[in-house]
Amino acid sequence: MDKNAEILGVEVMKVVKLVSGGIDSYIMSKEITEGINLYVDFGQKYAKQELKALKKLGVKFEKITINTTGKSTNISDNFYINNRNLCLVTLASMFYSPDIIYLGANKYDSHIDKSEYECEKMSKILSRYANEKLNGKKVIVKSPYWNKSKEQMIEDFSDKQKLLDTFSCYNPINDKPCGDCPACLRRTVLLENMGLKTGVKLSERIIHENLNKIHPKDRDRLSRLIFYLQKSNKVTAIDIDGILCECSSKPILKKIPIKSNIDKLNNLDGYKLLFTARLGVDRKDTKEWLKKHGVKYDALIMSKLPYHTLIDDRSKKEF
Ligand SMILES: [Zn+2]
Repeated sequence: MDKNAEILGVEVMKVVKLVSGGIDSYIMSKEITEGINLYVDFGQKYAKQELKALKKLGVKFEKITINTTGKSTNISDNFYINNRNLCLVTLASMFYSPDIIYLGANKYDSHIDKSEYECEKMSKILSRYANEKLNGKKVIVKSPYWNKSKEQMIEDFSDKQKLLDTFSCYNPINDKPCGDCPACLRRTVLLENMGLKTGVKLSERIIHENLNKIHPKDRDRLSRLIFYLQKSNKVTAIDIDGILCECSSKPILKKIPIKSNIDKLNNLDGYKLLFTARLGVDRKDTKEWLKKHGVKYDALIMSKLPYHTLIDDRSKKEF
């Protein structure tokens, strides 16, 4: 609690908001007007660009610099730093003794240490620490956006154009987004799908990596990426069984190919997404079969494509 407020007998919660220059924390810094915006420079090699973005966005912030090596942290091989948010909230707690620490996390955030469950655990850890130092103080770590998707956050935000000044890239090149890292992919797909022109060209490498890596259950991310690709490319989705191979009870590697359809597929332009209701354990054999029969494709999705309902009696004939 703020000391002056305590003297006046008014309870004012001391608030710290963790900001990074990215979309979520920028929206948060504008929508939660109380408290301090805090940037932690832990030697990340994109700190310079993030700080520049915060200034351009007009976010007033304080900074903690924790750089044990004196060099930029090379995280190119491992983008995800374990317990990064626990480290950040611990520093925020040590430096500012806040009652509430906000971090920008949305309903579908893929970073596990931003989930409600993890933040509850962090709150307990920090409260235990603060309890010992500050006589029973409780610290709460939370996000204001656990009930919102990123799209909803942007939809509800008043100044969408300003989001183009945010920055999220793990490997900036000459202060510009690289277009080849997961942060660039997430940001570009999201903003472009919302009609905002980022000027970032995503590399084929990161597109293919993601098409092939997204978990089949993560239909939202897959839908977003497919929607993005369709804006500038032809995207064809092809079922495997009954189209590229004859339906039979034979083991996958022995299935009979339908050569005419494979030839047609190989001659198509744009992105070619193969989808199948085969199980994830069949992925290896399915890939081997596709290779053996010379099928050219961009992604193999071991699931039906993301629709609530797909009823179509024509696509097979047209193909
Ligand atoms: Zn990047």
